[in-house]
Amino acid sequence: MDKPLLMIPGPIEISPAVEQAVSGPPPGHLAPGFIAAFGRALGMMRTVWQAPADAQPYVVAGSGTTAMDMAIGNLLDEGDRALVPHIGYFSDRIAEMARRRGATVDVVPSALGEGPDLDAVAQKLRGTPYKALLCTHVDTSTGTRNDAAALAALAREHGALSVFDGVCSIGGEQFDMAGWGADVVLTGSQKAIGLPPGLGLLVVGARAQQARDKLQRPPALVLDYSSWRPIMTAYEAGTPSYFATPATTLVRGLDVALAEVARDGMDARFALHKNAADAFRAGFAALGLSLVTTPALAAHTISAVRLPGTVDAARFLQGVSARGVVIAGGLHPALKGNSFRVGHMGHVLHRPDDLRRTMRAIGESLRDEGHDADVEAALAPFEALA
Ligand SMILES: *Cc1c(COP(=O)(O)O)cnc(C)c1O
Repeated sequence: MDKPLLMIPGPIEISPAVEQAVSGPPPGHLAPGFIAAFGRALGMMRTVWQAPADAQPYVVAGSGTTAMDMAIGNLLDEGDRALVPHIGYFSDRIAEMARRRGATVDVVPSALGEGPDLDAVAQKLRGTPYKALLCTHVDTSTGTRNDAAALAALAREHGALSVFDGVCSIGGEQFDMAGWGADVVLTGSQKAIGLPPGLGLLVVGARAQQARDKLQRPPALVLDYSSWRPIMTAYEAGTPSYFATPATTLVRGLDVALAEVARDGMDARFALHKNAADAFRAGFAALGLSLVTTPALAAHTISAVRLPGTVDAARFLQGVSARGVVIAGGLHPALKGNSFRVGHMGHVLHRPDDLRRTMRAIGESLRDEGHDADVEAALAPFEALA
């Protein structure tokens, strides 16, 4: 059989050009071709993030979690206050990172599959001098998208710095960093950007840079903006500089992956993701399945879907996998064993046959498990995709 089709929320299918770029011997970090690739990648991050001119992109070895820790470590000191509009699994993670910096963390809760109440967030911000608002853009455990524009605006209005964990969104969901006034926006390489895992990617606005300079206790040296900023500036200006060895092979791939995102054009890229998400949603509905999240908040990069009570989740996932497609089980504690997740982001969206193959595998496996699934009806919405 062909290699399995990877339809999980990261790592995702990568394009042939990206695969080629991350193959072969590693480039040296002083090689002219590498310097050029790194510089281009940093420049394209500005485009993909829609970043303000004075923001600084960072590329570090690690994962999305590394980028989260870097954002938090450069922002919060002992005794600072942070507010987390909670939306799912990764909200707990960013809150814990803030606590480990010695910050006091308050949480605005939300019901499963719902975003936090924006009025409640505003009320908290009004009443307490928070230094930071720590948000997840798209929650990967429930497929719910926070209203990032509104949250960033609220933070600005109340003098807090906003951080967005965009690990499951950047490159697939619209994020207008400059227009919305977000201060730090981060992701990992293996989600909608379409690289293998291994890079943390952040764009840091001027206010958040200044907050680092005012910290009393600096972050770990390897995660310090101050360690990396001269390096990023140098590469973007076309000269090499050394602090710690960059993941050269992956950076070479990042140049290619971001060029593919940028070549789509950002609006077309977001539309590509929305159209695919709409086709999956219509397909799930045709199978009699419902999303975990409220439809209005459903992300365009991932779907979390409830299984009928009669279907055994483990057997269902095995049935999908036996058809050569890998999807994910539930991640959120309340969704383990009663739901599944499909990542629909990146290069694979240019291959509608693979999207159909995914939906067919889901439908047929459900049928095997005794659910009365009309597989052909679930495939119909994919006909409209180019
Ligand atoms: C995947 C994910 C993370 C964690 O990223 P890693 O690369 O696994 O460290 C954090 N936040 C969100 C929203 C994610 O989807």
